[in-house]
Amino acid sequence: MFRNVLRRSLAVFALLFAASSVNAQSNTVASPRLYVFDGGVLASETARYRLTDADVEEVELSVASFLIVHPRGVLMWDAGAVADHERSGGVGHEQRLLRRDGQERFVKLAPTLTSQLASAGYKPSDVTHLALSHYHWDHTADANLFAGAEWLVSKKEHDAMFSADPPGGTRPGTYDALKNVRATLITANEHDVFGDGTVVIRQASGHTEGHSVLYVKLAKTGGVVLSGDLYHYPAERTLNRLPTFEVSEPETAAARTELEGFLTRTRAQLWIQHDLPAHRKLKKAPEYYD
Ligand SMILES: [Zn+2]
Repeated sequence: MFRNVLRRSLAVFALLFAASSVNAQSNTVASPRLYVFDGGVLASETARYRLTDADVEEVELSVASFLIVHPRGVLMWDAGAVADHERSGGVGHEQRLLRRDGQERFVKLAPTLTSQLASAGYKPSDVTHLALSHYHWDHTADANLFAGAEWLVSKKEHDAMFSADPPGGTRPGTYDALKNVRATLITANEHDVFGDGTVVIRQASGHTEGHSVLYVKLAKTGGVVLSGDLYHYPAERTLNRLPTFEVSEPETAAARTELEGFLTRTRAQLWIQHDLPAHRKLKKAPEYYD
């Protein structure tokens, strides 16, 4: 009898130990890992990007967010278009959202961000650093989930987000919990997140006041730049078209020129976050790039 109890508790102990070591393993990587999360499909109009439907492979846009697991911390890059807590249907449901300026947008839902994080072995509270490419509503939805993390944000972007009259393309309620978090206000062109050059926030302003892109240097995959909204469709890059709603068109043009030089110098790939055909082909969590 006693032996049975002992055996059973040993088995439980072994199971718990195995589970915790799996978790610990995923939290102590030797080199950076990049997880891709699917944030659903966003209805779009090509005219807003000075394109026609004939210029693009697909009119609809992807919504993507990313988790970068580094030996020194865990960075969340962008936070989706529909918050987990506000979903009014399941996967595939077309959710209607209202921007601050009253314009409506529609997003077909993917699984929740929390469930996709969990598939990779992470909870929102495991995230040590948060960075948003910019403040538009389709990048901030679940930002409040990461209020326990250190927020890495361009000072100009931060000031616009918390001004008395935030920009029309925001949904301020999605990020209001960031107002009093521990934040690093970035003023330099580059911010090396973990100090070893493998994860670097690069200012690429113009789409918004402090828009940025993220460079991640991976051991096997090589360099990857996550575009934010420096481009939405690949045709903007090949046909040299700017969206109609930039805060500063000259700044976006300059940021594109600067980034193209960076891509050539580093031979990094550019992942256009809203490029739906390209996004479909990426491995999604729990798979990852390293
Ligand atoms: Zn966007």
